[in-house]
Amino acid sequence: MPADLPLSHDVSLAAFNTFRIPARARRYVRVTDPGHLAAVAADPALAALPRLVLGGGSNLLIAHDEVEALVLHMALAGKEIVGTTDDAVLVRARAGENWHAFVEWTLAQGLGGLENMALIPGTVGASPIQNIGAYGAEVKDCFHALTVFDFADGTTRTMDAAACRFGYRDSVFKHPEGASLVVLDVTFALPRAWTPNLRYAELAQAVQGIAVPTPRQVADAVIAIRRRKLPDPAEIGNAGSFFKNPVVPREHCVRLLDTWPDLVHHAQPDGSEKLAAGWLIDRCGWKGRNLGRAGVYPKQALVLVNNGGATGAEILALARAIQDDVEARFGVRLEPEPVLV
Ligand SMILES: Cc1cc2nc3c(=O)[nH]c(=O)nc-3n(C[C@H](O)[C@H](O)[C@H](O)COP(=O)(O)OP(=O)(O)OC[C@H]3O[C@@H](n4cnc5c(N)ncnc54)[C@H](O)[C@@H]3O)c2cc1C
Repeated sequence: MPADLPLSHDVSLAAFNTFRIPARARRYVRVTDPGHLAAVAADPALAALPRLVLGGGSNLLIAHDEVEALVLHMALAGKEIVGTTDDAVLVRARAGENWHAFVEWTLAQGLGGLENMALIPGTVGASPIQNIGAYGAEVKDCFHALTVFDFADGTTRTMDAAACRFGYRDSVFKHPEGASLVVLDVTFALPRAWTPNLRYAELAQAVQGIAVPTPRQVADAVIAIRRRKLPDPAEIGNAGSFFKNPVVPREHCVRLLDTWPDLVHHAQPDGSEKLAAGWLIDRCGWKGRNLGRAGVYPKQALVLVNNGGATGAEILALARAIQDDVEARFGVRLEPEPVLV
């Protein structure tokens, strides 16, 4: 093992995942330099281990007491304006930067574009992994490029949006072809001519008294809405929305509407229909219910919470019970959003 690789053993991950699951990592590296990844790749014993790349741990469910994989905790720091194009300012942040702090920093530079995604927990490096999004905006809208380290060949390279294959809460990084890639930094193109994105009705309503809202004002409205609706992981363990909104064929949606005329659904450009997972869970009577020490957040049925001392297995048992009920009633199998470790 290289002498300068900060490898630790038997490290508690309780403070490193927002569900507060008290799992332990057998082997753990705090990655503060890309050279640490190269050192792991160059060491035959370490390179042969399965890996868990960890950011802020806000989109993970650790289902085991002990994590067998080598945990690579991304702590690369730094953010800067790196250039301009005719219509945008290019800003880059390294993977370990906190996402919300980065959004705040762009706003302080007078740059709009990321404000609808204020207060999403986690790191910049994880933001392209599931193409994070909120209030009608997604990372891909302002994405320019990113840099990856590839464990398959030990090289570092740049990827553009097409190579990242962004989709709804999806990208190449969530598929086998992207499994060897670790994001080192992300560059965003923030528009010089900014206009507010108020497609989301609740957000539009929150700023309706302001003639021409600024990015700062839109961010403040987003922050206020989120604080009202979502549990703060510092107070109650959770990973945000636990299930993706399912997309079904139009005929399936029409059949459901016969029985459930108030079904929440949104037509998709390809003719399919996106259903609101929270509505489906609520209609199965799960909102506010507990199973052991795991529960469904009373204000938002999409959010599963650790009521204190829950294991990953308990959260998973609750998730499975919800999936089974929703499938039995609506014929749709909900898909978890967080990564299961
Ligand atoms: C209260 C709350 C609200 C949330 N709201 C939203 C929301 O509105 N919209 C939304 O999209 N998400 C939301 N989330 C989910 C979560 O915040 C995002 O998915 C976030 O991007 C996860 O970042 P992270 O650093 O915590 O990633 P982690 O949870 O540490 O990791 C998530 C996945 O990304 C991989 N990964 C992390 N960093 C890297 C890297 N540098 N290179 C390669 N792979 C990497 C991990 O291996 C894992 O597979 C919410 C979560 C919480 C707790």
